[in-house]
Amino acid sequence: YIILRDVRKGYRIGGEDIPIFADLDLEIPRGDFVAIMGPSGSGKSTLLNMLAGVESPDAGEINIGRSRLDRMGETARSTWRAHNMGIVFQFYNLLPMLNAAENVELPLLLKPISAKERRIRVRKVLELVGLAGREKQYPALMSGGQQQRVGIARAIAADPDLLLCDEPTGDLDRKSADDVLDMLRLLNRELGKTIVMVTHDPQAALHARRTLHLDKGCFAEEKRAV
Ligand code: ATP
Ligand code: MG
Repeated sequence: YIILRDVRKGYRIGGEDIPIFADLDLEIPRGDFVAIMGPSGSGKSTLLNMLAGVESPDAGEINIGRSRLDRMGETARSTWRAHNMGIVFQFYNLLPMLNAAENVELPLLLKPISAKERRIRVRKVLELVGLAGREKQYPALMSGGQQQRVGIARAIAADPDLLLCDEPTGDLDRKSADDVLDMLRLLNRELGKTIVMVTHDPQAALHARRTLHLDKGCFAEEKRAV
């Protein structure tokens, strides 16, 4: 489903080329839930941004489904992103002037569906993340865990196959983090979403089906007793 081949990526910092990936290969089958761990600066966010089509590789292929992200232009990529993936951020990235329902509705505004269908869909995903009845509440009045559930509801509102999560529990206490992780696991097991989650938290990684360790531009898979 996701196939990266010979991906090269570096940044030019102060006139010097700093390589992050030299020839990265990665395969993630549909329906997988992968945790990506690794030291700070190892390129986890860079990788996620390339999967999201926000960053382009310097060379190599990025295939997701039947699409070649590295060959698409900027506009095609953002349209593709809006239709095929949801993104969950560490600091939720909710819009403070919009209430929960309005935040969740955002990705649906790009879909050819009526206002009534949008409202039904918003209510359904908020219910799914355990926030039924909180449609009108504003982010500032919610706990971190609740805000992240709104973030997840927004990410799945348009029903994408793929969820990208960058430190989704990085700003949460243990209890809220576990709730959010249970939610992600449910989305993977029950709804078949493919999930790629970057995390520093070994406990969080245990919720995934497998863990990849990124270090010095390469992946090593963690062996786990089943
Ligand atoms: P962390 O765990 O701290 O979030 P990370 O594994 O997500 O780290 P990245 O953010 O992917 O690491 O960064 C990898 C390297 O690339 C770092 O050395 C960083 O300074 C550099 N880098 C990332 N983005 C850019 C950018 N836009 N311009 C220049 N350098 C960048
Ligand atoms: Mg990062």
